Amino acid sequence: MTAGGHGFDGVERRGLMFVLSSPSGAGKTTLSRLLIERMPGLKMSVSATTRPMRPGEIDGRDYLFVDKSRFEAMVKRDELLEWATVFDNRYGTPREPVETALSAGQDVLFDIDWQGTQQLREKARADVVSVFILPPSAADLEKRLHTRAQDADAVIRGRMSRATHELSHWAEYDYIVINHDIDEAFAEVQSILKAERLKRERRTGLTTFVRELQRQLEK
Ligand code: 5GP
Repeated sequence: MTAGGHGFDGVERRGLMFVLSSPSGAGKTTLSRLLIERMPGLKMSVSATTRPMRPGEIDGRDYLFVDKSRFEAMVKRDELLEWATVFDNRYGTPREPVETALSAGQDVLFDIDWQGTQQLREKARADVVSVFILPPSAADLEKRLHTRAQDADAVIRGRMSRATHELSHWAEYDYIVINHDIDEAFAEVQSILKAERLKRERRTGLTTFVRELQRQLEK
């Protein structure tokens, strides 16, 4: 997926797709929120899902809450960039907002699982930067799932057992961050994004920029 648009430093660039994945409870939601709050030029991709809304969630902000038939229709019309079944519910990324943001030179943040990450990578390898967040221990993961306390015990048990499976995909990611401490983990994720934004290949306006520099020097 290629796109133009002016970057944070005035040089034209392609937006990148910044993917965070982890087992539920490893701190990915908090990290996503901090990134959106503190990194200008980054926009959250709001997924469509068939799962029921949790207390405190807002339709259109946290997810687009849709029923199964609406989801199926989105798949049929090719409106989703990727989609997957997670915990018996469907989740998918609406294509249009992502393409619009990337075309404007904005980066897009995705909180999606390994299945979605694989699909994005197949479609746009050069534009995808993927980060896997690991909890420091199983006990820590369980504690965070209980503290969140929005799900029934049976759901939490299901998420713990699924965590083992999700963990097995860690090696498919570009970067691995261990979330011992949320501030440190945030600093690490932020550094990854900052460095990836400076990659030469993404900075489509550099040739023009350097040519202008040379012209000025030759005067
Ligand atoms: P939750 O129901 O706890 O919000 O999310 C469950 C899992 O679904 C998380 O691992 C989350 O990353 C993943 N997920 C959320 N949205 C999407 C999506 O659009 N596509 C894919 N593949 N996974 C998603």
